[in-house]
Amino acid sequence: MMRTTWRIGKVFGIAINIDSSWLIIFALVIWTLAGAHFPQQYPRWPTWLHWMVGVITSILLFGSVLGHELAHSLVAIGQGEGVHSITLFIFGGVARITEEPDEPLKELLMAIVGPLFSLATAMAFGVLWFLTRALIQPLSALARYLAMINVSLAIFNLIPGFPLDGGRVLRALIWGLSGDLKVATRLASWAGQGIAFLFMLGGTWQIFGGRWLDGLWIIFIGWFLYSAATSGYRQVLVREMLGEVRAGDLMTTDFATVSGDLTLQQLVDEYVLRHREHSYPVADVGLLRGIICLHDVKAVPRERWPFTKISEVMTPWAELETVSPGDGGSTILARLNARDVGQLPVVEGERLIGLLRRSDVLRYLQVRMA
Ligand SMILES: [Zn+2]
Repeated sequence: MMRTTWRIGKVFGIAINIDSSWLIIFALVIWTLAGAHFPQQYPRWPTWLHWMVGVITSILLFGSVLGHELAHSLVAIGQGEGVHSITLFIFGGVARITEEPDEPLKELLMAIVGPLFSLATAMAFGVLWFLTRALIQPLSALARYLAMINVSLAIFNLIPGFPLDGGRVLRALIWGLSGDLKVATRLASWAGQGIAFLFMLGGTWQIFGGRWLDGLWIIFIGWFLYSAATSGYRQVLVREMLGEVRAGDLMTTDFATVSGDLTLQQLVDEYVLRHREHSYPVADVGLLRGIICLHDVKAVPRERWPFTKISEVMTPWAELETVSPGDGGSTILARLNARDVGQLPVVEGERLIGLLRRSDVLRYLQVRMA
């Protein structure tokens, strides 16, 4: 499945992305706040005020989730882990893309700091509510809601089901006790699936009780948890199966490269029609300059193709995910997943020596499984 993500900025060197699913959630949150929550709590406010406070509260809620994720990421960076980007889906903690920690204690610290951040944020908003409650009602209403939501965020993320923070804490504890990451992940993932099932059951119960909107929300969260728990476990299995394999073993050395000086028209006529590849590394005397893919070409109007150079529209080297021949399975997976790309250039310094395709990794896994 193709997911669309947008990059909205960079904080502490970490790219901040928004998944398309987040926009739906964001709109739903604004609608719930401005259309239902604030009008019920403060019926005497004018409608524009409901919407204004609703929108500002939603943006601050978004900031709270981002802060939670940044707390995880900064601890990870402090421990020498690579954090490439944060992608916001719905609730923080599930969508974080980092390389997996290699010690139980590291994972424990990384996991717990998110909920602690949310609790601290809740306390700050609680204080703001207390100070403004008799003076500025819209501000105190906003602070009260955000205090409650940050407490909920902390509690929700502490649910002991992998891959939520609480599940990661559970996994770190079992891992520390048993010394076996796979067993720990399996147990934490089962806990996650069990809890997800309870959510869906509870949501169904709510619907039968007539509270269909609450019920749908709870079922939705349950479904989300369930898919996260199963895919999180699968990732660990795959990582384990990739084991000792190196990028250099899986890469292809038989591929076409193009020069950045070619025009898009030449690329299409001489390469795309012949090789039928979706994307081409752009190299200059063996040094990697970037990657050009058909999406980049299609973004340029056809009549401009003879006058546009590849180097003008390619994804430049600095923005590419690459691997070294010595990189192992978990790095390969993390890089492939970081931007959801189909292939990674394999480089030694700037020198392009191979291409690692997602399909080659999959084929290797199939052979291993058989
Ligand atoms: Zn978290």
